[in-house]
Amino acid sequence: MSPLLNPKRTVTELKELRALTGDDNGAQRVAFTPMWSKTRAWLQKKLDDLPLETHCDAAGNLWSTLRGESDQALLIGGHMDSVPNGGWLDGCLNVLAGLEILRRINTQYHGKPPVTIRLVDWADEEGARFGKSLFGSSACSGNLDMNEARNLRDKDGILLPDALKNIGVDFERVKDSGKELQNAAAYLELHIEQGPVLLDLDLPLGAVLGTFGVERHAITFHGQAAHSGSTPMNRRKDAFLAAAKMSPEIYRIAERSHGGVCTIGSCTTKPGIVTSVIEECRITLDQRHLDAAALAQMLQEARDASEQFAIEGNVQVSWERLWQIAPRPFNDELIALCDEAIRETCGRVHRLPSGPLHDAAEVARAGVPTVMMFVQSLRGISHNKIEDTKEEHLELCVTAFDRLAEKTMAWIKSS
Ligand SMILES: [Zn+2]
Repeated sequence: MSPLLNPKRTVTELKELRALTGDDNGAQRVAFTPMWSKTRAWLQKKLDDLPLETHCDAAGNLWSTLRGESDQALLIGGHMDSVPNGGWLDGCLNVLAGLEILRRINTQYHGKPPVTIRLVDWADEEGARFGKSLFGSSACSGNLDMNEARNLRDKDGILLPDALKNIGVDFERVKDSGKELQNAAAYLELHIEQGPVLLDLDLPLGAVLGTFGVERHAITFHGQAAHSGSTPMNRRKDAFLAAAKMSPEIYRIAERSHGGVCTIGSCTTKPGIVTSVIEECRITLDQRHLDAAALAQMLQEARDASEQFAIEGNVQVSWERLWQIAPRPFNDELIALCDEAIRETCGRVHRLPSGPLHDAAEVARAGVPTVMMFVQSLRGISHNKIEDTKEEHLELCVTAFDRLAEKTMAWIKSS
């Protein structure tokens, strides 16, 4: 570990932030609220101790730049916002680790590193208030759906563009933030895993291969309502029977896919009374995989199975796509560097995909070479006040992430 790096300070600052912006129910740093502004003011004070140029871009993302000998920039990103009653590490861990790395680099290179280093605090990663995540990073990558975002309202009926106006952001110009990526040569993001994979392997850190692609559909089976007493079993058109067969089937599909996951997240029935055969059964299916072809295959298999079950049950089936996103594989060379940094720090490493989306997915989508590092999540739980990571693991992740930053600077220099 570089003697100039102080991972214990990051842990202390995380606790300071928790005390400042959390309560008995967890972190309360919801984007575009007064608590979020307070969080940023706290962060800004810390940034002020370094010779950085700091500004908010057109989408409300906070950029802090340490100019290097080259304009080519290494980006380190995270998000200070949280869900309501959130965990103390999700998002802010990477910003504060990035801050510590900036301090190390600034001291080591006397304020002039070989490449430019930029720390970004993305605005509204969580989408907790307006129901749409990755706001700041998707505006910056150019992928934000303006027509959809323009009409988003929070639970008090306030429109997103009005909430943005309050913090000095003009909604119609948010995509101007894209120019921030002009000299971006690499993007690094550290994050708590939010799942149990590293915990079950008893490993502190992992190199992330990319974020899952997602296919989200509603599947509706249409049968016929009929009296539960007078309709013989062989005469029924039972929409639920067909839908229910999908439940074990998606486990088989996921197993065959090597690494994918499938979830039936809801099931609603009509007429939904105790004395009637079910006429209509609507289930939702969420399928995720890191490989686009495998994801398409999982979807096709689910479609085929639903049609088969409909025929067997003498009912109809219809599909409606709710949402989809392509997989975002990260950069192979940066994954290798991340792997190396973790090995040098704690001996062992695991490579894993990310089920949740992150800002890194948007940056990768914009064509910037990207990788993420995960640190183990105790209990595998996140978006909850019980979210936690051992302090020794937090220190390890700052050290490994710093090594990755140094390796990536060299990689940018040499490419
Ligand atoms: Zn996060």
